[in-house]
Amino acid sequence: MNPDILRGYLEFYQDLGIKTLYRRAAPAPDAVAPAGETLPQILADIGDCRRCRLHEGRSKLVFGVGNPTAPLVFVGEGPGADEDAQGIPFVGRAGQLLTQMIENTAKREGIQLTRDDVYICNVVKCRPPGNRTPELDEMDICGQFLARQLTAIRPKAICALGGTAAHALTNHKEGVTKMRGRWFQWREIPVMVTYHPSYLLRPYNQDAKREAWEDLKKVLHFVYD
Ligand code: URA
Repeated sequence: MNPDILRGYLEFYQDLGIKTLYRRAAPAPDAVAPAGETLPQILADIGDCRRCRLHEGRSKLVFGVGNPTAPLVFVGEGPGADEDAQGIPFVGRAGQLLTQMIENTAKREGIQLTRDDVYICNVVKCRPPGNRTPELDEMDICGQFLARQLTAIRPKAICALGGTAAHALTNHKEGVTKMRGRWFQWREIPVMVTYHPSYLLRPYNQDAKREAWEDLKKVLHFVYD
């Protein structure tokens, strides 16, 4: 067979393989939670987790923080260095921006809300080395715990921060710029997608910042009006 045609076939099937894996792995948080499971029970089940390679580099597992009956849950990608050191999600620079965004937007919109009133967690619970994006199998394995957390909390809405969380929760594959500001669903729960606060920290992203405030306003009014 002509080598170019053969290469074409190979590339086609490789591409198909990647897409098939992606389709299988993307809706990671599809675990069925035992009825009535609580967050402490889920944490106990995670235990000293070694289910994927991410445990190798972690200092602390970062489960989640906030109100266990929160009507609004923020889901990020995975812990960074500060979160890994403290065992709490979104405590570094991006976390401080997220806290400001939640509290300042709520205040400006006449909604009484602090960071402690919502719940904050990530798709993966251990820091990916060098803050790389979590691999599909890591999201697949850890996604069951996110699903169980969301099932236990049963929020009125979820805010997905960035593409990784958006893809894991919605199974849509568009870029975050296309998805932001729109409602999707995780099971029956509405999911608003917005930019990840780390992206907003970059100095040239003033438009994105404005858009993220708009997205946040939408989700806050939906949940708290
Ligand atoms: N980025 C995330 O996605 N999650 C954190 O907890 C911190 C930074």
